[in-house]
Amino acid sequence: MDLTYTEEEQDFRARLRAWLAKVLPELPAKPSPDDWPGRRAYDLGWQRRLYEAGYAGLHWPVDAGGRGATPTQHLIFLEETERAGAPYVGANFVGLLHAGPTIAAEGTAEQRARWLPPVLRGDEVWCQGFSEPDAGSDLASLRTRAVRDGDDYVISGSKIWTSHAEVADWCELLVRTDPGAPKHRGISWLAMPMDAPGVSVRPLRTLAGSAEFAQVFLDEVRVPVANRVGAENDGWRVTMVTLSFERGTAFVGEVVACRRTLGELARTAKANGRWDDPVLRRRLGRLYGEFGALWRLTQWNVSEAERSAGGVPGTGGSVFKLAYSHARQELYDTAAEVLGARSLSLEEEWTLDRLSSLSYTIAAGTSQIQRNIVAERILGLPKGR
Ligand SMILES: Cc1cc2nc3c(=O)[nH]c(=O)nc-3n(C[C@H](O)[C@H](O)[C@H](O)COP(=O)(O)OP(=O)(O)OC[C@H]3O[C@@H](n4cnc5c(N)ncnc54)[C@H](O)[C@@H]3O)c2cc1C
Repeated sequence: MDLTYTEEEQDFRARLRAWLAKVLPELPAKPSPDDWPGRRAYDLGWQRRLYEAGYAGLHWPVDAGGRGATPTQHLIFLEETERAGAPYVGANFVGLLHAGPTIAAEGTAEQRARWLPPVLRGDEVWCQGFSEPDAGSDLASLRTRAVRDGDDYVISGSKIWTSHAEVADWCELLVRTDPGAPKHRGISWLAMPMDAPGVSVRPLRTLAGSAEFAQVFLDEVRVPVANRVGAENDGWRVTMVTLSFERGTAFVGEVVACRRTLGELARTAKANGRWDDPVLRRRLGRLYGEFGALWRLTQWNVSEAERSAGGVPGTGGSVFKLAYSHARQELYDTAAEVLGARSLSLEEEWTLDRLSSLSYTIAAGTSQIQRNIVAERILGLPKGR
């Protein structure tokens, strides 16, 4: 990978910077963290602006509606949007960062044409229906059942921790289509409309008071067989593609944000006197080094993914996810030390970010599971069981 910028890339950066300077002041006020319909409208509105300006799906393949940009242009985009304080993907997380890329890599031409343009245009929101009350780390033991009836599957079961379920139009849903097969072989990956009869959503509140995820109940929901991505009972392989995107590339924009946050923290510490504490300074310095290394790992992962067939990231995603989620928690623990009593107020964005950082070592596969993957698939150690 070449880490210097070509003239074309510098030109791309300059044009993007100028566009951001023009559009960001025109954005409406950000909705409150618990106003989910408002957040959906805000996030889709930003996505629509990106689409109209030709920046949506920058690194997606051209035949999936993207612009086929180079990995470097993609990273420049993340750097510049973050530097300018532009909105992040928000409610579009699943659609843009893992359901969409999965459909781009695994879907038929009809499926790509149906589902990808509305994600890029900012018309439709997706959620992820993978985890179940008894199937989290051991996802392949999922029990939501899909029975074939003519051209439909009839689906019953329940999903849990479904982020953005209340405001989603579509769900990437894992179902068991062959209960007699070994557990990894009887699963299929479906796109389910969230307004289908039989779908009900019960919001779950986090410790910060926000209902950002939900339990989703499915009672004889009919989903066309045509909505299946990949072959029947081959859904585990498709799931691995989704999880590779989720762990490998979905969080890269956040690394840029964390580096900016770290700078902000150092400035706050200088202003409020906490900077005089050498232990705190050492901690901030170590985090600076850690996020610098994570950014390099990000560049490597993105570059590797965009060179691979279908743009699917490799197991390096588990190394990144493991290191990033712990570094993020340490960043916000350090923020609490810098801010003192201020960090206890739920009115402070810092506090909410700190609370949400606790979930990072659980969501998208726990740290223990990432360690198992690194041990078995990268280091070649024997399987635990
Ligand atoms: C903020 C957030 C958002 C989420 N959003 C979604 C979403 O949109 N859609 C969705 O489908 N899911 C979502 N999840 C669910 C998430 O994927 C699961 O919580 C996660 O996979 C862990 O599953 P579990 O909660 O059932 O824990 P369990 O699997 O019950 O694990 C409990 C503990 O046991 C450990 N453990 C389990 N198995 C092993 C093993 N083999 N080796 C070592 N340790 C092990 C785990 O590491 C963990 O510490 C979200 C979770 C969070 C926190």
